[in-house]
Amino acid sequence: MPGFDAYCDLEGAVKGAVFYNEPMARHTSYRIGGPALLYVECASLSDVGRCFEVFADHGLPWCVAGKGSNLLVSDEGFKGAVVTLGSDFKHFSFPDEEEGESLLVAGGGVILSNLAQSAFKGGFAGLEFSVGIPGTLGGALFMNAGSAEEWMGGIVESLTVLRPGEGLVRYGASDLPWGYRRSGIPAGEVVVEGRLKVAKGHLGQIRAKMEASLKRRRSTQPLTVPSAGSVFRNPPGASAGQLIESLGLKGYAVGGARVSELHANFIVNEGAATAADVVAIIMHVRKRVKEEYGHELQPEIRFVGFS
Ligand SMILES: Cc1cc2nc3c(=O)[nH]c(=O)nc-3n(C[C@H](O)[C@H](O)[C@H](O)COP(=O)(O)OP(=O)(O)OC[C@H]3O[C@@H](n4cnc5c(N)ncnc54)[C@H](O)[C@@H]3O)c2cc1C
Repeated sequence: MPGFDAYCDLEGAVKGAVFYNEPMARHTSYRIGGPALLYVECASLSDVGRCFEVFADHGLPWCVAGKGSNLLVSDEGFKGAVVTLGSDFKHFSFPDEEEGESLLVAGGGVILSNLAQSAFKGGFAGLEFSVGIPGTLGGALFMNAGSAEEWMGGIVESLTVLRPGEGLVRYGASDLPWGYRRSGIPAGEVVVEGRLKVAKGHLGQIRAKMEASLKRRRSTQPLTVPSAGSVFRNPPGASAGQLIESLGLKGYAVGGARVSELHANFIVNEGAATAADVVAIIMHVRKRVKEEYGHELQPEIRFVGFS
């Protein structure tokens, strides 16, 4: 059985939980995806380190996932291991406040929206734009998640990754080439902690900004059906959603997947969608946009288990 030796080596050797043949549909916001050979919820840094060793010993491909809110996993699943961050990576604190400025130090497994809420409760401004973005801090830093105006890279002081074979490595904000939905963090490094810049703000103003952001999301995004957010990156100077909408593709469906009627850059799972359905829509939309506008739309979502 592929991966079973690695499973046996990890089971009992890590504090966290190890699953064999774990359906990824359970771990993605799309509710789509076949099994990963191994799915490991690492409880500590040494768990992640142990995973690296075992994966290397067995030549097992692996990837790290947060809440799977930007992932499309193939129907055949992933012939490798998925690493996620558990208990030791869910801490956060606001140390060293000086003259109204502070750092928010948080583990890579903390849910981003919870951080935004906690900053608000502490009277700190800076994370309002991130409220409503599903997923973990690690995923948000890797993706440089954000809104049209602000992104994670803009509030990073530094972050720490675990690099296989080397250990902990710290990046200052300016060490990374932050860009639109791109951090430059090399794939294969696991973000274990982020240090974010926050500043004392006016509670009413922080709340107003967060509420405005949530209101905009509720009115423009299909939040009651499974999706992975925006499927395509906006091409330079254009909006992927507007291009798709202008071609009359809202409502275009394949199997159980459909281009959202509310937001043309969302492809939603109406209940029984397969990854193949979503991919078929992606291909069709790309072809039509290329024919009509010459733009080659690039996916923002990340693919796992596709060859
Ligand atoms: C309804 C909805 C709305 C959304 N709105 C937005 C939005 O407004 N703005 C926006 O930018 N995104 C948005 N997204 C997309 C998604 O929520 C973000 O990209 C989010 O930051 C992904 O976090 P995650 O923890 O779920 O990462 P995952 O989806 O699990 O992973 C995404 C990528 O990050 C990598 N990764 C995850 N954790 C780590 C880690 N600890 N270290 C290194 N790499 C890691 C993965 O390998 C993968 O390549 C939306 C998604 C949904 C479903």
